[in-house]
Amino acid sequence: MQDKNTKYVVGSLKKFDNVTQKFYQLSSDCLQNSPAPSPDQYNLFTPILPLAHPIHRQTYSQWKYSMFVNTIFRRKRGRNLFLLPIGPFPESITETAVAGRRLWDFLKDFSSAFFLGLDVHILPEVSLENINCTKRVHKKTNQMQVLVGDLFLYLQKMCPADGYSVIGVSWTDLYPSEDLNFVLGEASFVHGSAVISFGRFEPKLYEDGLRVRECGSEGEDERAVMLLKLIKSLCHETCHLFGLSHCVFFQCLMNESSSMDQAFGQPLFLCPVCLRKLQKMCKFDIRERYLTLRDMLLKCCEEVESRYFVNSANWLDKCLSFLDNHDEAERS
Ligand SMILES: [Zn+2]
Ligand SMILES: [Zn+2]
Repeated sequence: MQDKNTKYVVGSLKKFDNVTQKFYQLSSDCLQNSPAPSPDQYNLFTPILPLAHPIHRQTYSQWKYSMFVNTIFRRKRGRNLFLLPIGPFPESITETAVAGRRLWDFLKDFSSAFFLGLDVHILPEVSLENINCTKRVHKKTNQMQVLVGDLFLYLQKMCPADGYSVIGVSWTDLYPSEDLNFVLGEASFVHGSAVISFGRFEPKLYEDGLRVRECGSEGEDERAVMLLKLIKSLCHETCHLFGLSHCVFFQCLMNESSSMDQAFGQPLFLCPVCLRKLQKMCKFDIRERYLTLRDMLLKCCEEVESRYFVNSANWLDKCLSFLDNHDEAERS
C-alpha cells in the first residue's frame, strides 16, 4: 500500500510491479524532518533537508500537469533526440575515441542509455561561423564566447519533423548574459532546444588570458573532466527539455550548479522524483536502464582514471542489488 508522502512526490505507483514501487518509495526520505536515524543499507539517495519551500518544488503531479498544458499548445513531437556538433573543435577532440568509439558515437551511446526508449541521432557538424549570434571575448580567459540564448531559434529550425529536440554541442565557451562569466549549458523548453559547451574555459583556470591550472576539479584528470562535462551537461539540459525543473528533493543530476567543482559534487544520476518524470517520457524499465548505464560507465572507467566514474558505477551496482534483492524477497 503506497503511503501518502510518496504519492505527493512521485504520484500513484499502482501500475508498477512491487519492486519498482519499493524503489520509488525511497522518495519518502525527502519528506522527513531530519535524516533517517539508521540509513537503509543501500543508502541510495541523499535527501536535501529541510525540504525547500513548496514554491521551489516540482513534484511528479505538478510536472505532469505542466506537460499536459504544454501539449495543448504545441505540435506533437517525435521520439528522436538529435545532437548537433557546432564546430570548430580542436583536432585532438574530433579524433579522440572513447571505448573504441568516436567521441560523437560514444555520446550517442551514452544518451541512448540515459534516455532509454528514445532514439538518439548525430546530425552533420555545422560551423559557428555560419550561425548569426552575439559573441564576445572574455576578459580573463581571452576566449571567444557565444551568447547562449541566440542559438535556440537556430537549433529549433534544425530539428527534423520527427524530432523531439535538438541539442547543440559546442567547444566554444558560452555565456548566459552580459553580467555573467560562463555557463556549461542551457535549455529552452519553448524552443525545444538546448546547447552545451565542453571546452575548458572556466575563468578561475586563467590569469591574464593564460591558462594557469589544468582542470576544473581537483584530483581528476583532464580527459575525465571533459567526458564528465559532456555527459553531465547533456543529460541535465535534455531533462530540462522534458520539462524537468531543478531538483530540490535529493542530491541529483537535476540540482542547480554553476561550476565544474559543484557539478563534480553532484550525482550523475536522477533521484526517484526526477526519475519518475523521465520514465513517464521515455517508458523504460528501471533495471534495464541501470544495467545499460553501468555498461557505459565501466567503459568510461577503462578509458579514464576518475573517482567520479568509479563511484557512479558503484552506485549503479547498489541500485541493481536493491532491485534484485527486493525481487527475490517478493518471490520467496
Ligand atoms: Zn539546469
Ligand atoms: Zn531529482
